[in-house]
Amino acid sequence: MLFASTRSPLIPVTFEDAVFRGLAEDGGLYHPMEEPDLRSLFLGLSETDGFVRIASGMTAALFPENFTPERAEDVCRSAFPFSPRLSELGRGIHLLELFHGPSCAFKDFGASFLATVMESFLKEHDRRAIILTATSGDTGSAVAQAFRNRRNIDVVILYPSGRVSPLQEKQLTTTGGNVTALEVLGSFDDCQRMVKEAFTDRDLMSRLPLTSANSINLGRLIPQSYYYAYAFAQLRRRLNDEFLFCVPSGNYGNLTAGVLAWRWGLPVNGFVAASNRNDVVPEYLTSGLFQPRPSVHTPSNAMDVGNPSNFERLLAIFHEDWTGMRSMIGGESVSDADTFETMRRFYRSHGLFLDPHTAVGVCAAERRFDRELASAVDVVVLATAHPAKFSEIVKEATGAEPPLPPELARVLELPKVSVQVKNSPGALKSFLLDRYST
Ligand SMILES: *Cc1c(COP(=O)(O)O)cnc(C)c1O
Repeated sequence: MLFASTRSPLIPVTFEDAVFRGLAEDGGLYHPMEEPDLRSLFLGLSETDGFVRIASGMTAALFPENFTPERAEDVCRSAFPFSPRLSELGRGIHLLELFHGPSCAFKDFGASFLATVMESFLKEHDRRAIILTATSGDTGSAVAQAFRNRRNIDVVILYPSGRVSPLQEKQLTTTGGNVTALEVLGSFDDCQRMVKEAFTDRDLMSRLPLTSANSINLGRLIPQSYYYAYAFAQLRRRLNDEFLFCVPSGNYGNLTAGVLAWRWGLPVNGFVAASNRNDVVPEYLTSGLFQPRPSVHTPSNAMDVGNPSNFERLLAIFHEDWTGMRSMIGGESVSDADTFETMRRFYRSHGLFLDPHTAVGVCAAERRFDRELASAVDVVVLATAHPAKFSEIVKEATGAEPPLPPELARVLELPKVSVQVKNSPGALKSFLLDRYST
């Protein structure tokens, strides 16, 4: 499969180039040029197929130029020592739990696949890379965990000092080894600016093999399609007439990956784009007008995105056809009050903790049920984070504290190790050159 920028759709790029470049030079996002037909693969799946097996099959089918079936299996076995799990909420609502990986959020799937693929390509050419990324707290830990101990790769993660939660800070600063946490005396915007400056510094770029691991990287997007196929395989014998996925969304990478799986032949009837008050996509689906605006703060803050970058990919998939997109994707915008109410209700009635992002998805799925003939529909809600990652908000909603999973309990015990840097032009550059130039 070849890829092209959403803004230069006729210029082909290999998967390897797309992975190491991240963002296309013209500012667009890399996107598949073809739509491979994986229908027979999907229809051959059964509930006994484990996640690694499904992921390997899709990897080999999508990237025959890069991965033989054996190499695809090696890559997926290394990338996915964890698996999604499907659970029932009742009423035809299922939860696809994507938080059983090392950072306890769905971003583990994309980050871990990207790390494994990069490691595999670098080894092949005997090259090395330095991953440089900024985080506001939540997403950096998936990258730190995914790249830890990968050969030929070093990782530098910038985070704003004093502005991430204690648990997030522990997740960022306890990896050690090839992962360095840079504690920037400034804001998240400062961190992002410093990273951007590094990538546009020609002198620095000629001296160090810097690359990014952004969530828009194709190597993170593609593997997110794998768990949609996994959910289908688990449920297919039990499905009712209609089969929907409901995706709590911010930058819309997760939803885009599901829509790609459908384009490749996954038998699904539609998607629900569940947003918090940052609802420019649901608004577009209703009105046909896409109006990006500054984000507002909500309890599901990993979804506080005012100008979702993957919208460009969604437009490319539907050839900018609003009617076509609407026929496949419905939008739901969920208020902060409804998010809290959903968390509270599920805790009271089922003793079940939902993280605020997943709660947005569950609330949106319930609304869909109230509108349609409930008995004939199955909705799979993507559960994007473990409730203990957002225990302050969960406690505010339910009055109780969700138990910590072992992955998070372990990092809380480890000592924080970070390198403080000033928020000044040049501080990052001198750190990088001191540490990595030979
Ligand atoms: C990143 C994130 C989201 C949003 O996913 P997108 O792919 O950006 O739409 C939702 N929930 C959690 C917990 C996240 O970390």
